[in-house]
Amino acid sequence: MEDKMRLSKYYVKTLKETPKEAEVISHKLLLRSGMIKRLASGVYTYLPLGLKALKKVENIVREEMDRAGAQEIFMPVLQPAELWKESGRWDVMGAEMMRIQDRHSREFALGPTHEEVITDIIRNDISSYKSLPLNLYQIQTKFRDERRPRFGLMRGREFMMKDAYSFHASKESLDEEFENMKAAYTRVFERCGLKFRAVEADSGAIGGSGSQEFHVLAESGEDEIIYCTSCDYAANVETATSTIVELPKAETLDIKLVDTPNVSKIVDVVEYLNVPVEQTVKAMMYKDVVTDDVYMVLIRGDFEVNEVKLKNIIDTIDVVLLTDSEIEDLGLIKGFIGPVGADLTKIKVIADKSIVGISNHTAGGNKLDTHYINVNYGRDYEAEVVADVRTVVVGEKCPKCGGELASARGIESGHIFKLGDKYSKALNASFLDENGKSQIMEMGCYGIGVSRTMASAIEQNNDENGIIWPSAIAPFVVEVIPANMKSEEQVALAEEIYKNFQDSCIDVALDDRDERIGFKFKDGDLIGYPFKVVAGKKAAEGIVELKIRRTNETLEVSKDEVVSKVK
Ligand code: ATP
Ligand code: MG
Ligand code: MG
Ligand code: MG
Repeated sequence: MEDKMRLSKYYVKTLKETPKEAEVISHKLLLRSGMIKRLASGVYTYLPLGLKALKKVENIVREEMDRAGAQEIFMPVLQPAELWKESGRWDVMGAEMMRIQDRHSREFALGPTHEEVITDIIRNDISSYKSLPLNLYQIQTKFRDERRPRFGLMRGREFMMKDAYSFHASKESLDEEFENMKAAYTRVFERCGLKFRAVEADSGAIGGSGSQEFHVLAESGEDEIIYCTSCDYAANVETATSTIVELPKAETLDIKLVDTPNVSKIVDVVEYLNVPVEQTVKAMMYKDVVTDDVYMVLIRGDFEVNEVKLKNIIDTIDVVLLTDSEIEDLGLIKGFIGPVGADLTKIKVIADKSIVGISNHTAGGNKLDTHYINVNYGRDYEAEVVADVRTVVVGEKCPKCGGELASARGIESGHIFKLGDKYSKALNASFLDENGKSQIMEMGCYGIGVSRTMASAIEQNNDENGIIWPSAIAPFVVEVIPANMKSEEQVALAEEIYKNFQDSCIDVALDDRDERIGFKFKDGDLIGYPFKVVAGKKAAEGIVELKIRRTNETLEVSKDEVVSKVK
């Protein structure tokens, strides 16, 4: 192993202060520990430590994809508009797709995802059932012009994704691969050392018959997941509410409050209404389980009182505006319910209410530091959209076993889909079956946010001193520190142990900087090395201290034992 892990020479600049723009813990710690650097909103450079962690996640993903029988390829970021027009998504993708023109004014997209490109390859290359099934993947930078790039690596505009696409001669074959990928994803998140849950997700917009999300569990997660306390049922809240909700009558609502807010949902409503975002808007939305239609949206807030505009909004999408007391009279709990991106044009039944005044809600529950329980400025909403948001689950039994449901916060880190023939049909990816008959291929797609997974590992593993990396994805597993740089004995022992770790192929850093031990400890805790080995007072006896970051334990071990203790 190369001798380049001496911190005196290594590019690592930790910060004392947390940069102002950082809201969530992973963003703060990634910046403070000198792992990433911001270039523009949602666009980051990975510095050596950060890149090491990213590569570790990437390698786990790669190994598990290879093990599952997928083959790695590398597709272009630059994608011609024609392909997207062929699939019909050039218009559908809207502002989230980064678009550019070449010198001849030809239009291109910077790939937000690669269904079109891969299907184009396959339709030209594969013509017989004998070549199927096939699963191809890549690990590559994706571009999405997110409405709200934020939280550092969690929601970037340029981020690292592993995306895989499978092609099949039958639905059964697709089902098999879906299970295969589920197992591979489970191994990926297990190997990363993360607590996670696979949940059922809505496959509505993208089509197809099945979809699962993998959520890394963390209080700061943007998503809410619902799970059964007695069986293995788990679903994201959009799916859970649309399957569990019994169509409620507004007058007799019996609702259970799930005590977890989620602000991202409201943003869609706000945008749809075309209400300037600096104004406070609150909304509730109810969905019909059977038809999936949204049948009522309640909006309240301190709109700039422009009655004409409000009237227009209400006329077009049937929104009900209610005062606080009305909401209470109806037995509704202040807050909102999703789902994200619901088609508001589908609203059909509306409580018969006229506008009964619009009160100023910036005072009260939304004042800084006086929010409703568990709603935090920064984490749950941003300055422009002042909102308190809760998810309400109507009906509280597991649809599978009737058991009690509970909820948790999660970060969507992986997502697998049965696409069916959506893209293969649009782009005419067909093959000849055993009888020589032409058929359309079945497709699946499987994504993992590699950079988001890295950030979610930090969201789940940290304390007041910094990051606590799971060993499998730590930039360095061990840091060796001579307690006193002036003690030749201690320095020599540290060097010896450093070399032993290198010989055993354990990622090790040597803190040979001319700094005090207290400073090195602090820095080490911030960076999150799972283990520190300190050559100190007992160096002459060949005894060192082994410090375990997660438990804060310190053990005295002989220099010959220390490598095996870390293994
Ligand atoms: P989200 O709901 O958070 O916007 P998504 O459902 O749009 O994510 P997918 O299209 O399912 O994302 O992409 C696959 C994976 O890519 C996601 O599960 C997530 O881990 C990751 N991902 C998506 N968008 C981003 C982003 N802006 N920054 C970092 N990772 C992302
Ligand atoms: Mg998205
Ligand atoms: Mg999603
Ligand atoms: Mg998704």
